[in-house]
Amino acid sequence: MSGGDTIAAIATPPGRGGIGIVRISGPAARAIGQQVTHAPLTPRYAHYCDFTDTDGQTLDRGLAIYFQQPHSYTGEDVLELQGHGGPVVLDLLLARVLALGARVARPGEFTERAFLNDKLDLTQAEAVSDLIDSGSQSAARAAVRSLRGAFSEKIHDLQAQLIELRVYVESALDFAEEEIDFLSSNELQQRTLAIQAAFSEIETQAQQGRLLQEGMRVVIAGEPNVGKSSLLNSLTGSDSAIVADIPGTTRDILTEQIHIDGMPLHIIDTAGLRESDDPVEQEGIRRARAQMDQADRVLVLSAHGEASAQRPAGLRTDIPLDFVVNKIDLQGQAAKLEETNAGVRIYLSAKTHVGVDLLKSHLKRCMGFDASLEGTFIARRRHLNALATTATHVDRALSQLRTARAGELCAEELRYAQEALNEITGEFTSDDLLGEIFKNFCIGK
Ligand code: GDP
Repeated sequence: MSGGDTIAAIATPPGRGGIGIVRISGPAARAIGQQVTHAPLTPRYAHYCDFTDTDGQTLDRGLAIYFQQPHSYTGEDVLELQGHGGPVVLDLLLARVLALGARVARPGEFTERAFLNDKLDLTQAEAVSDLIDSGSQSAARAAVRSLRGAFSEKIHDLQAQLIELRVYVESALDFAEEEIDFLSSNELQQRTLAIQAAFSEIETQAQQGRLLQEGMRVVIAGEPNVGKSSLLNSLTGSDSAIVADIPGTTRDILTEQIHIDGMPLHIIDTAGLRESDDPVEQEGIRRARAQMDQADRVLVLSAHGEASAQRPAGLRTDIPLDFVVNKIDLQGQAAKLEETNAGVRIYLSAKTHVGVDLLKSHLKRCMGFDASLEGTFIARRRHLNALATTATHVDRALSQLRTARAGELCAEELRYAQEALNEITGEFTSDDLLGEIFKNFCIGK
């Protein structure tokens, strides 16, 4: 199905190790393997044999395993030569395989072929890469769940519901004289509402999955001089932000990546929010507001005994926030975490680091570090965008039905909704997007 050429790559990481694997996929895999190993290459049988050069000299000795198509990772004929993990010996073995007609695989090309041959759908292919890259146990578990099809299953359920609804709408449209009845039918609205509810549930789970994959964007906001840069430094354990008692020091945005027990976070320090006549500071404040709008979470910082923190004006209401009260050392107060009606409030000192652990554990919990998120699958921004597009079209379909009583337009919106949903699993995906997804894989995968 895919190209007809045979690809090969060293599938184990560079460097020295006990085992090194050269993986070959494509129509010539078996013939190449036979020339290198002189083994019969029975499918799924581990042959212990010499790997030889053109002149019969032994390059290495190891296991050769042949997987006959379609029963292989890529769906094509696949051969694995499992030798020793030294860079020189593996290079020699790969060169030998290339000389016999294979070409070097692009990053992710094995998985791309698996996708093209229907061995995996797109969310599963992405999960392979996410599993390899996962930085925490939670992320790894979520990636495995996606790999095993947990996310795809949910999408397929939604697809099935949408298709049923479309069939219902379209068939009603075919009987024009009954259209009036059908448009006012409660059944139709109920079904559309049910789909909307299913969507919001999946969106919440996917959002959590995205945090595990991409990391949570946490913006530190607050008035000048409350200790935003100090908090960034305390969280990262470095001196990346300039700390000074001159208000308005941070005028640009500073982003640092940290891991808390393997959970990735992007911490963003912003310019203090206050009225200012200085054009540079004004620009800093504008950027700070733009960052807040893209945040997964905002920490509203205030200094103990000074301004009481409140939700920053104009912040999108769907962005969660926590209040952090800094400089407790000045009043000799103890660090603590309080649940208030407005949200969590954490008392700490960025300077002495007392209480910063409370904040870290809280952030970790927000990302789903605790096992409470059983069932979370790994997800990406691309999935969330597609889910959002789908949801918008379903909303529009419902309003076409309710307010305009326009059956044709409702049907059309549902069709768009389905196309957006299909993009997630890759049933309706442009080549550009595929290229973008697979190029971020490592070689040999
Ligand atoms: P920003 O303008 O909000 O980024 O604030 P900075 O991080 O630059 O800090 C402003 C001033 O407050 C500096 O002099 C810091 O040393 C001081 N500061 C920050 N955090 C604390 C703290 O927890 N305790 C005390 N005593 N001073 C702090």
